[in-house]
Amino acid sequence: MWVHIRRVAQETYPIMGSALAMTQETPAYGARRAKAPVGPMTIERRDLRPHDVEIEILYCGICHSDVHKVNDDWGNTQFPVVPGHEIVGRVASQGARASRFREGDLVGVGCIVDSCRTCPECRAGHEMFCEKGVTFTFDSLEQDKKARTYGGYSANMVVDERYMLRIPTALDPARAAPLMCAGITTYSPLRQFGCKAGDKVGVVGLGGLGHMAVKFAASMGAEVAVLSTSRDKEKDADRLGANRFVATREPGALDDLAKTFDLILDTVSSPHDLNQELALLRNFGTLVLVGLPPGSTPLNPEMLLFGNRRLAGSNIGGIPETQEMLDYCGEHEIVADVEVIPIQKVNDAYASMQRGDVRYRFVIDCASLGA
Ligand code: NAP
Ligand code: ZN
Ligand code: ZN
Repeated sequence: MWVHIRRVAQETYPIMGSALAMTQETPAYGARRAKAPVGPMTIERRDLRPHDVEIEILYCGICHSDVHKVNDDWGNTQFPVVPGHEIVGRVASQGARASRFREGDLVGVGCIVDSCRTCPECRAGHEMFCEKGVTFTFDSLEQDKKARTYGGYSANMVVDERYMLRIPTALDPARAAPLMCAGITTYSPLRQFGCKAGDKVGVVGLGGLGHMAVKFAASMGAEVAVLSTSRDKEKDADRLGANRFVATREPGALDDLAKTFDLILDTVSSPHDLNQELALLRNFGTLVLVGLPPGSTPLNPEMLLFGNRRLAGSNIGGIPETQEMLDYCGEHEIVADVEVIPIQKVNDAYASMQRGDVRYRFVIDCASLGA
């Protein structure tokens, strides 16, 4: 079993009188080059700054963005990369001036670990659009624009308390981990576009994001249809709260759905036809893209003009809205459906996700990093 890292900053900070530049080694899993298997490596975590919190990572969900990053689908990955931004852990230690949490608290870290804190976007709680450059949880630069960030496929992590979230105690930690990305990414657009009781909402793609979208939309009283390429997910769609299931690859499947939906959330990870989806919106309805397949896709302007339809996108969510989403999940007992795996199975999980075969989020038990 891996022995917990040495901790010195909390004691030494007041004596030193400035942030420490020391680091500590941590076991992690990552990829050394594009499409390489995800394997063991050692990374460094900084010692505690005054407002830092060190967590022992308990669970980390596997988002399809992790897969895109390792495959360098978006052409911007800096290797080596340690993915993981659906993190739940326990507070192990804190910097001298950290006050939001106590040792042992269950906390979450999502996609964002720092930002400038002063620009209009940061002040509005939209840290993901920080005008000085947000620090994402992995494959990103710290605010010093030099140090790189490494994600949650690791044993511990050091994050400023401002970017750490409180996990409601009623929620199972493994099943809460995917809320940190899949949860906020689907909750946020439903709120932004005013999802309400009686609305007809379509969810395209029933994976990690898709199954959370179904749970949230159903909890808000919407009438939910799942549009999926996998007929064998039909029973699950019903159990998750959907009122209707559409197997989109079957001939004629979409014929009676033209002009049906107020809102469609597209969570698909591979290139596909958006014009077909736009046709399913009623007049003034909105198609929100949250899936981020590589490449571009043709758009027929007629599909927007005739019906005043709207095409929108939504990128994760800021820190305040993420806490709001977690509290909402605590109240409504919403968590992800997960398959907990040891880190040693991570490459098998990636292969399943690339086949669209996930029920509905793989979550790494990070205790396995010490195995
Ligand atoms: P996932 O769990 O792998 O699910 C993706 C689903 O898309 C699959 O289960 C499958 O559902 C469907 N799909 C896959 N290939 C398809 C194809 N060729 N045609 C039609 N449907 C297909 O992925 P995820 O973690 O939910 O992520 C989904 C996408 O969202 C990724 O591109 C990811 O990078 C992106 N993402 C964006 C944000 C954001 O801020 N907007 C945040 C997180 C993730 P069916 O079997 O039901 O068809
Ligand atoms: Zn994600
Ligand atoms: Zn900012």
